[in-house]
Amino acid sequence: MGLCKYCGEKAGLFRSKHKACEAKKIAGQTSIISEVEKFILEKESIENMQPTIQQIAAEHYIKTEELNALYGKGFDEAVAHILEDGVVSEEEETKIGKFKSQFNDFDNKIDTQDSILKVIKSLILRDLLNGSIPKSRVNFAGNAPFLLQKGEEFLWIFKNVAYHERVNKTVYVGRSQGVSVRIAKGIYYRTSSFKGNPVLTNELKYISEGILAFTNKHVWFSSDLKSFKIPYSKLITVEPFENGCGLLKDGASAKPQIFSNIDGWFTYNLVSNMVSMV
Ligand SMILES: [Zn+2]
Repeated sequence: MGLCKYCGEKAGLFRSKHKACEAKKIAGQTSIISEVEKFILEKESIENMQPTIQQIAAEHYIKTEELNALYGKGFDEAVAHILEDGVVSEEEETKIGKFKSQFNDFDNKIDTQDSILKVIKSLILRDLLNGSIPKSRVNFAGNAPFLLQKGEEFLWIFKNVAYHERVNKTVYVGRSQGVSVRIAKGIYYRTSSFKGNPVLTNELKYISEGILAFTNKHVWFSSDLKSFKIPYSKLITVEPFENGCGLLKDGASAKPQIFSNIDGWFTYNLVSNMVSMV
């Protein structure tokens, strides 16, 4: 006679679980994720979150070591909700901070890398909307291949970026796109409508793969074959793509420089706002 791996009672010949016990556990997981989301977004006393969650876990055969993943999922849900309207408000930032403060070593224990990066992007855009150069919220892990000036700080870094140049200038100039639609002060397009933007095609000449970084002063690119920096003040066109961004410097010989495998929406908003501020 097998025993149920959840409740420990007899489960029947060749059986390791009761279906009802398994269903109860799954319901408990769903409930924990939505409770975590509510504690972040709605409830005042975040201090009650962990006791509440532990109680749900105990009643639904969920082990303590399974909880961090569920806290992470609840956080992801809350962040997705927060970002629906575009930018993280100060109040929402405080809520996120309070949630994080409930854990020792949050960054290593709770897997929310993706959501945290989305929040940081949103905070950068919030600074720009408020008319200020964004604070630095990212560090370069390892040795940065860029020699920053005094007072120059990283705003954002993309790795494994494909760099292309557009050789045929007439194709670029003849395109009708390039007019930006403002949906709020300084933010162009919502993430969802941005998905309709052109995707980069192979009319471009691929040059190399490297690191693309944005500082408070320059756009930097570093790769084996080609490295350069461009001050924002030299940029005359910022072209949005769903999966990339095109930049054109002033100067008669300047060729469009196109980066792909990046978040086109964020990059376009970051660069076009930085251009208008420097
Ligand atoms: Zn059972």
